[in-house]
Amino acid sequence: MIRVSGVSLILAVLGAAALGASAPRAAQVPAIREENVRAELAALADDSMQGRRTASPGGARAARFIAQRMRELGLQPAGDSGFFQRVPLARSPQGGRGGLMLLDALEGLDTVPAAARAIAVNVVGLLPGSDPKLKDEAILVDAHYDHLGVGRPVGGDSIYNGADDDASGTVAVLEIARALAAGPKPKRTVVFLATTGEEVGLLGTRWYIAHPVVPLERTVANLEIEMIGRPDSLAGGRGKGWLTGFERSTMGSLLAAAGIPIVADPHPEQSFFTRSDNIAFARRGIPAHTLSSYNLHTDYHTPDDEVDRVDVAHMTAVIRAAARAVRLLADGPAPTWNPGGRPDGPGRP
Ligand SMILES: [Zn+2]
Repeated sequence: MIRVSGVSLILAVLGAAALGASAPRAAQVPAIREENVRAELAALADDSMQGRRTASPGGARAARFIAQRMRELGLQPAGDSGFFQRVPLARSPQGGRGGLMLLDALEGLDTVPAAARAIAVNVVGLLPGSDPKLKDEAILVDAHYDHLGVGRPVGGDSIYNGADDDASGTVAVLEIARALAAGPKPKRTVVFLATTGEEVGLLGTRWYIAHPVVPLERTVANLEIEMIGRPDSLAGGRGKGWLTGFERSTMGSLLAAAGIPIVADPHPEQSFFTRSDNIAFARRGIPAHTLSSYNLHTDYHTPDDEVDRVDVAHMTAVIRAAARAVRLLADGPAPTWNPGGRPDGPGRP
């Protein structure tokens, strides 16, 4: 998730609120198992991934791990290079937060001095739809796998592991794929996308939007998963997730009506709807929301965003809810914007 300067990420005196009362219900999607969630999270947030910075060796290692999992799960490779969708970049002092600029085309690399060239990758696989009509439409399920890399040490630790932000969402993308691949074939095609460059300006998503694997006009919904590693007492605690921009489209009410434990974002003052990859899709007219349970913990964007601070049972329950949500979106009515809900352009939230 992107930092917003000047916005306090600490809400005081919420700590006393109890964690959610009800334990996560028994598995409704047995394909999703806590041990797999834990193992994938531990791999992506391991020190060997060096914080998964965009266009770094650690980022590339994480991408290989995700692609290998997608292959094992039986997804179809949908990148330009197997599961990899190459994202051409130039290192530049003008490149914003990460010193990286997105190029307009892979050929653009030829125009950049060799020392400034960089390639990052999105990782993308799909499950083809089974319905003769609906298979031409797609649901996009995504999370960003990049994080901040190695940086200023805090307490002797310089690796920003990003376990919650957003290894947790990346694991969700993989595990939702596992659940859908294990069940009946979805009616619509489901695109599973792990993006790079989110932390440095949504670079991977901007590239995907210019090079979608299913045309955006036929991409009928986007569910992004970001920071589900810890329960949020304001959303009901363990096993509960919240959806950004809940009231903007019918997606939230469709999920709620199906009994899926996903509630409205309890932190509207944080403007999370506009702070992650989903906003880029929403501005293209696709009902696009982010599922999260971020409780505004203070380990955000510090080296303390570590695996051992993640509540894996909670996270597994949220992934199960997300898998039910994606199944519903893939097989049921497509969500639509509510009046006034669609963001109209880059200047308007
Ligand atoms: Zn972040």
